[in-house]
Amino acid sequence: SDHDLEYPISPAHMKWAPYYAPYAEPTKSIVKGTVESQGVKRPNDEGEKEAQTTAIEEEDSRKLTQDVEVADIGCGFGGLLVALAPKLPNTLLLGMEIRTQVTEYVQERIKALRSQSADEKLYQNAACLRANSMKFLPNFFKKHQLSKIFLCFPDPHFKARKHKARIVSTTLNSEYAYVVRPGGIIYTITDVEDLHLWMVEHFDKHPSFERVAEAEQEADECVEVMRTETEEGQKVTRNNGQKFVALFRRLEDPPW
Ligand code: SAM
Repeated sequence: SDHDLEYPISPAHMKWAPYYAPYAEPTKSIVKGTVESQGVKRPNDEGEKEAQTTAIEEEDSRKLTQDVEVADIGCGFGGLLVALAPKLPNTLLLGMEIRTQVTEYVQERIKALRSQSADEKLYQNAACLRANSMKFLPNFFKKHQLSKIFLCFPDPHFKARKHKARIVSTTLNSEYAYVVRPGGIIYTITDVEDLHLWMVEHFDKHPSFERVAEAEQEADECVEVMRTETEEGQKVTRNNGQKFVALFRRLEDPPW
């Protein structure tokens, strides 16, 4: 259940600064010695506590200098995120994952990569948070904020009565259309042919999307990353399975 999921009441309320610290604007009242540049020093003296709590809140509430633009929905163990981060060094990428422990694993993985990297900007553009993307996507992203959404090896929910749990549906496609800008791309990959056909059918019949032609699809560097760097993609390779890829472009809204 989602009762313990935290999500912002609107995109403007989302505190992104803790996820992408180097991309946060400085605050005026950051007091030297209270808040250090690489995160917040927690209080050790009772008397300091109040001022520091305010400083922590202020630091966490800082606006970013740029928006998150790429979402990996159901990111699993984060293979796609960490492979894409160096390839899109000026773009903020977000993995969304519903399982708590998997989310924490990805957060630790990114933290380790950040600290091991000689280039101090590397991996600062990637982050992961726990969310049920089927419910709260417009709470995180404003209209047309995203340029890419990845749906990599989504759970297939084989049985017909479970199809409503699939992350591609007429309703959810309208949410994707809302958060993705015209010209933006939805990337899908699965080893389940039935699910592939389902996703193609639902995006094809949605007025906001058109399928990307195969030549353009194969020329897109993200497609190779989806095939080879996702944990599921690697598992399918080990089992000599097939991978079905389809990309969909967000169209301009018709002028009413
Ligand atoms: N994308 C990864 C990959 O390709 O290796 C993981 C694929 S795994 C089969 C599907 C993932 O989606 C799981 O980690 C699952 O917990 C997550 N998931 C399922 N429903 C979700 C939801 N509503 N919101 C966020 N994540 C979800």
